[in-house]
Amino acid sequence: MDKIKRFFECLIPITACNLRCSYCYVIQRENRKNKVANLKYTPEEIGKALTKKRLGGLCYFSICGAGETTMQPQLEDIVYNILKQGHYVNITTNGTLGKRIKAILTKNIKYVSHLHFSFSFHYLELKKYKLLDEFFKNINMVKDSGASILAQFNMCDEYIPYLEEMKKLCVENTGAMPQIAATRKEENSQLEKIELLTKLSSEDYKKQGDSFKSPLFEFTMKNFNVKRNEFCYAGDWTGILDLSTGIMRRCYSSYIYQDIFKNPNEKINFIAIGKHCKSPFCMNSSHFMSLGVIPEIKTPTYAELRNRKEAKWYSETMLKFLNSKLQESNEKYSKINKLKSTLIGRYDNTIRYFYRKYKNLKK
Ligand code: SF4
Repeated sequence: MDKIKRFFECLIPITACNLRCSYCYVIQRENRKNKVANLKYTPEEIGKALTKKRLGGLCYFSICGAGETTMQPQLEDIVYNILKQGHYVNITTNGTLGKRIKAILTKNIKYVSHLHFSFSFHYLELKKYKLLDEFFKNINMVKDSGASILAQFNMCDEYIPYLEEMKKLCVENTGAMPQIAATRKEENSQLEKIELLTKLSSEDYKKQGDSFKSPLFEFTMKNFNVKRNEFCYAGDWTGILDLSTGIMRRCYSSYIYQDIFKNPNEKINFIAIGKHCKSPFCMNSSHFMSLGVIPEIKTPTYAELRNRKEAKWYSETMLKFLNSKLQESNEKYSKINKLKSTLIGRYDNTIRYFYRKYKNLKK
């Protein structure tokens, strides 16, 4: 049975999108440039850099754009070259571009059981542009192909009057209620103060989503603004990877990076952040923590947070893979490795300190 060795949160910095949701993080940062990303490496080079041998086993790559991911023209080839290595891939999409989704499925049909699509249910934009039918048609096209699906929406105040409608539509078209993601305000780029994007108290905000019985929402709300002080294996068992440049960082708050696409024969330096996480809380806990990046914390699995069993959103293959945890394929650190992680953590903090000082001086 396939078990996860490493997880990579992958960005394609495309900012083009056919929707304009008010809560979108790119729009909140006023960074919508409507451009596709320039890729420094070809899809074949990306695949060669990410072999199972080099990464130590089967990995999960979750790909998301800073706009609509499927608009990136090389996406199907990038996905193909990763899947060809035996890995698993998620694509996050607004689900409206049927031709692009079809092209991705067609190119990757051989590996479809390793393919997962996260459909973001942007209800008001879909309604405004009369794209609701197209959205659900595309979800079902993916599901019928044998790939796995997730339908989720970002809880925000403007959806509150429509929650029952959204629930009904999703049940009718996908067999189950959507999962929910908590939405944060993008006020402070230095990540010191994070708030939910709502005028409600966090208790009332959470109550709005209760009737959806979404384990994803429960989990993200439970971990929102909870600072992690445990030993975290981000940087070794997980990484943040820019697919346009090959730059891998250990996690959001780490300033150490390496281009892992440049020389596919070079060893990748995986070293855990340990107790040096500088994020105010685990910003993507539903990925990192559910996959087991902090092994001492017991969590539901990634699949348990997302799959709707009654509608079989996940294929059997995907279910098994995403029910596995990183600690099943990785060893915890010895005292020496923990010491190494502490020393590198101090070095990382020094870079961070000077970088931020330099940025403040430039203001
Ligand atoms: S606790 Fe979360 S945010 Fe912090 S280093 Fe680990 S994975 Fe990254």
